Amino acid sequence: CHLLKKGFKQPREKLLGGLLATEFDEKSCLSRYHHPSLRKPSPYKPSGYLVAKLRSYERLHKHWGPGTKAYKRATEQLGNNDVRSSGDHECRYVVWMPMFGLGNRMLSLVSVFLYALLTERIVLVDQRNDIPDLFCEPFPETSWLLPLDFPLTNQLDSFNQKHSRCYGTMLKNHAINSTTIPSHLYLDIFHDSRDHDKMFFCEGDQALLGKVPWLVVKSNLYFVPSLWLIQGFQAELIKLFPQKDTVFHHLARYLFHPTNKVWGMITRSYDAYLSRADERLGIQIRVFSKPAGYFQHVMDQILSCTQREKLLPELATPESQVTNTSSTSPKLKAVLITSLHPEYSEKLQNMFLERPNWSGEIIEVYQPSGEKVQQTDKKVHDQKALAEIYLLSLTDKLVTSTRSTFGYVAQGLGGLKPWILYEPRSRIAPDPPCVRAMSMEPCFLRAPLHGCQAKTIKTTPFVRYCEDWTTGLKLV
Ligand code: GDP
Repeated sequence: CHLLKKGFKQPREKLLGGLLATEFDEKSCLSRYHHPSLRKPSPYKPSGYLVAKLRSYERLHKHWGPGTKAYKRATEQLGNNDVRSSGDHECRYVVWMPMFGLGNRMLSLVSVFLYALLTERIVLVDQRNDIPDLFCEPFPETSWLLPLDFPLTNQLDSFNQKHSRCYGTMLKNHAINSTTIPSHLYLDIFHDSRDHDKMFFCEGDQALLGKVPWLVVKSNLYFVPSLWLIQGFQAELIKLFPQKDTVFHHLARYLFHPTNKVWGMITRSYDAYLSRADERLGIQIRVFSKPAGYFQHVMDQILSCTQREKLLPELATPESQVTNTSSTSPKLKAVLITSLHPEYSEKLQNMFLERPNWSGEIIEVYQPSGEKVQQTDKKVHDQKALAEIYLLSLTDKLVTSTRSTFGYVAQGLGGLKPWILYEPRSRIAPDPPCVRAMSMEPCFLRAPLHGCQAKTIKTTPFVRYCEDWTTGLKLV
């Protein structure tokens, strides 16, 4: 039982090559140190510089986090219009608010955390939804949850593009300049943000924002690629991530540790359906059309992609005699399907049951849930969604759906370059049905292409237009 004590010296793999801190109690969050029981070691190692940066971030968070004198002082300053007159402004914070579905949330939280690392802020998360039911605390001996008595709590929900503290709106109204630094600002980084909001990504604006003690961010996007395009951040980013396409992989595995409830869902599914397989294929099916549901053209597309890419074997006619000639037992391939709609896995399962296939493999199809409709902020629904994202990330090969952040998180956590199913148009299966991703990084689906970064986008070799969304940007 001494193994469960706090601070026990952990083997390196358990700590993800030094990424994870050692100070946690194991039992309160089993997923944190028990992940190697399900996950193969990642071939991508974090840089020593990133590991050191995370340790120093943790110290900062402990110093400035909830319950500290620094936090108290910083909150007392809120509401001041010019913080330089109040003297003390060394502690800086970025408050993250959950917006849209779980995938959207995980992508924006990683982006905000990286921004905090780059700008010496600490990140605090709004806890009035089910975040504490999904994730364990990532930073030792402190908390990432924004205290409920935070002075602006009652205003958080009213922050939007029209709010007088919205940075883009203030720029538009010429209500902000570097001579008066407000104690807090709201940043709006959405798919429909305006050009003024996107000024966040400009060098000069960062100089001003750096002085504002409290930033509140609402976003549904993975805006990391555009942080790389800010010249002032690039040298540091290159040191942190010499392998540029590993940002999400490392930071997501550092931050996101499912709670014991979710970990139970993950391990039970894994043990029942995936652990015995010789190979695991994940297929994430997100139907964005309205109405959504089961469509024959989507089913055709999935079959055409998986067979063309040799991820699933070709089916033979029911009468064909496909015999297993080898002396060894046939290979077992587990196919994990995640979708709101249960019909896709039912059909696939029946297909491989009713007809032999030419490879002689045993194909077992499994779908953990079929919730039919999105019910974000319902606790068990979100827990299932997280469990499924995590399970997808444990597969050997992965097929995802165009512009789905749910799939992006799974591929990044798993270190997988997925095959992406193109979005069908006019109810026809696209040809080709899918494309292999260039990198495991998520796509910044609405990157600012025409503003201050327009030139840099064209000349930066490690930022490319996404395979599945040609106006999005991703790290490669
Ligand atoms: P996106 O809309 O595909 O970019 O992904 P999000 O995760 O942001 O939002 C979709 C939400 O719908 C998820 O968070 C879930 O609540 C639900 N959802 C979508 N697909 C699935 C799925 O395959 N399994 C489960 N359990 N929920 C899903």
